[in-house]
Amino acid sequence: MRIILLGAPGAGKGTVSNLLTSHDGSVHISTGDILRNAVKAGTHLGNQAKQFMDRGDLVPDSLIMGIMEERLQEPDCQKGFILDGFPRTIPQAEELDKLLAKLSIRIDLVANLDVSKEIILQRLTTRRTCSNASCQAIYNVKNNPTKVEGVCDKCGSPTIQRSDETEQAILNRLDTYNKQTAPLTDYYSQKGILKTIEALFEDVVVKEIVSSI
Ligand code: AMP
Repeated sequence: MRIILLGAPGAGKGTVSNLLTSHDGSVHISTGDILRNAVKAGTHLGNQAKQFMDRGDLVPDSLIMGIMEERLQEPDCQKGFILDGFPRTIPQAEELDKLLAKLSIRIDLVANLDVSKEIILQRLTTRRTCSNASCQAIYNVKNNPTKVEGVCDKCGSPTIQRSDETEQAILNRLDTYNKQTAPLTDYYSQKGILKTIEALFEDVVVKEIVSSI
């Protein structure tokens, strides 16, 4: 499948992507994960992106398009891909359209994961992420805790609260989402490929996506 997941931070895009990946082998491409790995590795890209990310602001479109132009041409994308966190602005969506036309790729579906601000705040402030860049398993101290507090079940690395998951940064990310990313629902609705799905339960979201393709 070739799909784009839209939805505010905390809507469950990462979890849904992982479930879809195990469904048919499509690759999960998260620009947030790519950027966090670059920050951790201290690359030039990471150093440029860090200040924007810590504030909860978007990284400039030019940096993101450079990453995605390379990533979408890697061989594993031929199995299909799930775009998580990209595009995030109308200019990114327009650039993506040009890139996909150049590569003769058609998007099957844009799924808009819809969830209330209250639930998002609750989910994100209680979320913990594995600090190991090649694992990045996601937990929740309330409803999906690690077996040993602060230790990843999968790889044994410490779990952390992301620096952009403090209440202040989350509120800024939601504001940024509403101003810059929410207009993409109209953009894709006009193309006739948008489906809005209530995102309370991830397994229900996955079923709806699979049955819509
Ligand atoms: P995410 O994990 O998708 O919420 O992304 C974390 C942060 O990475 C965002 O708050 C942005 O600072 C940055 N980021 C991720 N994807 C994009 C994108 N497509 N455009 C601009 N910034 C992005």
